[in-house]
Amino acid sequence: MDREHATSRVNLSSSQPAALRVGVLGFGGLGQAAARVLAPKQEMHWVAAADRKGYAYDAQGLDPDSCIAVYRSQGSLGYLEPGGVLSNNSIQELIGRAPVDGYFLALPNLPNTFMASVARQFIQAGWQGVLVDAIKRTSAVEQLLAMADELQAAGITYMTGCGATPGLLTAAAALAAQSYAEIHSVKITFGVGIANWEAYRATVREDIAHLPGYTVEQARAMTDAEVEALLDQTNGLIMLENMEHADDVMLERLGICSRDRVTVGGIVDTRNPKKPLSTNVQVTGRTFEGKISTHTFTLGDETSMAANVCGPAFGYLKTGIGLHQRGLYGLFTAAEVMPQFVR
Ligand code: NAD
Repeated sequence: MDREHATSRVNLSSSQPAALRVGVLGFGGLGQAAARVLAPKQEMHWVAAADRKGYAYDAQGLDPDSCIAVYRSQGSLGYLEPGGVLSNNSIQELIGRAPVDGYFLALPNLPNTFMASVARQFIQAGWQGVLVDAIKRTSAVEQLLAMADELQAAGITYMTGCGATPGLLTAAAALAAQSYAEIHSVKITFGVGIANWEAYRATVREDIAHLPGYTVEQARAMTDAEVEALLDQTNGLIMLENMEHADDVMLERLGICSRDRVTVGGIVDTRNPKKPLSTNVQVTGRTFEGKISTHTFTLGDETSMAANVCGPAFGYLKTGIGLHQRGLYGLFTAAEVMPQFVR
């Protein structure tokens, strides 16, 4: 897609802008939730999606129910009729065929270099538009930060770390920091409840990779039976502390505090949709008068991980498209711009 084409679709100030054409890469737990989040939106039109074995495109819009039904029964969107194509090179083929203004990358970052390699595929294809990810590890976001100039030269506006944490909670921390002259600590604690781990395989594997004694490669290589055996030992709970989470580099980059003052941990219950604890971020600092205080931002317990990841991801996609329209390309994190609300 050429730059003029992307730009001509976007007129965020007009009362009736053309709906933005949106794609979702990865159609597991988050990808399917993303399709449902987009369904009632007027400003975004879901036209493309890919999984590991295929992709689907329909300029008139994809139907979440039929896509989810096909994916669950046959294992790939490639079986969708009409519009599905089976392919072992689904991302590459979709990029070349589908006119899309922006993609949400709901892909596993396994190995830890995968998302950066997908960004490189977009650059090499000569694609121009907006990409949004919800990646989590500091080292993964750092790989994208290192690609900022290449993304800029390619005419891509890339929004990284735009899920819940990093994402919504990092942005809340950046906002809360404004009350203080000095930030002492940013403490993110999350509670995630999912009914079964198979609905979010990559999320669970990537969380296991944070446990003591595990690496990303080990978690990636675990069979489903091995994951289940591990979860059996803990009654389905994954307890995480001092995680390598990119909230730290995102806040450090903005001069809010050094990365060692940012801590992230939480509990994931893989057998119960109820959150084991309330997700929150606590920002402690000193005001200009010398008072020490803590701002706390707590997410509602009824909001799911999917709601708190996909909502922000599309909010940042809308912001990214606005930046792209103004000729601002390169790399942005969730902490440096506000997500816009998608109507
Ligand atoms: P999942 O395992 O449920 O689904 C992954 C999907 O990606 C599948 O559809 C799979 O077919 C597809 N896929 C894998 N390799 C592919 C390839 N090479 N080409 C095309 N498609 C491919 O994943 P999930 O649990 O939805 O998690 C997705 C990502 O979101 C993970 O990296 C996870 O860590 C991240 N996440 C971030 C946050 C946050 O707050 N920032 C929260 C939750 C999850």
